[in-house]
Amino acid sequence: MLTKQKIKKQFGRNICRRCINKSYNVSLLNTDCYYNFPYPQKCPCCNEMKNIVTGFRLSGYLKSIVTKNTLNETE
Ligand SMILES: [Zn+2]
Repeated sequence: MLTKQKIKKQFGRNICRRCINKSYNVSLLNTDCYYNFPYPQKCPCCNEMKNIVTGFRLSGYLKSIVTKNTLNETE
């Protein structure tokens, strides 16, 4: 299951939605996520100014459950 704790553990901090989708092979929508509004910040993954995801709504969690995680589990 994809969690923000897992993302922080891997990247050191929160990253943007596009990088989450790419890194974890998920297809989260804007409405699936919480952001640290109001201003975009530099994403540590793609180095672009993006809205950084700080958490997932229930719909996002459900997607992360049914989506296969392509990364190696470290736990
Ligand atoms: Zn990014």
